[in-house]
Amino acid sequence: MSEHGKACVPGLFTDDNGARLLGTRCSTCNTPYFPKVTRCHNPRCSESRLVDASFGGRGTIWSYSVADFAPPPPHKHDKPFKPYVIAVVDLDEGLRIVGQMVDGLDQASVGAPVTLVIDTLYHEDGQAYSTWKFKRI
Ligand SMILES: [Zn+2]
Repeated sequence: MSEHGKACVPGLFTDDNGARLLGTRCSTCNTPYFPKVTRCHNPRCSESRLVDASFGGRGTIWSYSVADFAPPPPHKHDKPFKPYVIAVVDLDEGLRIVGQMVDGLDQASVGAPVTLVIDTLYHEDGQAYSTWKFKRI
């Protein structure tokens, strides 16, 4: 458990030595996957040799938007709902992934550098639950 709470979904990420998403990478064609997959989906790949891999570190914002209303269940959030920036980020390690930003809209712009972090997503029954997010650097 990180200082930001239990993982909202176990097995998707770790915060033990910095924020890392837990996925796989095809050792034949080098395609990264998150979450983990059991076979390579690259149609040009001749073999599907998958190995565990983790992804994190720096990336750049590919696109972003503002969630001005609460997503429907099963999404969970603290009440009252606070709008947040949601970004599509190209990680330097090869993944394009969606996540909330810990920063406000004034920090979001296409091409802006960010880093993967683990942060609290919501609280339930006195327990904090965490997920991955992006922070402007
Ligand atoms: Zn492959």
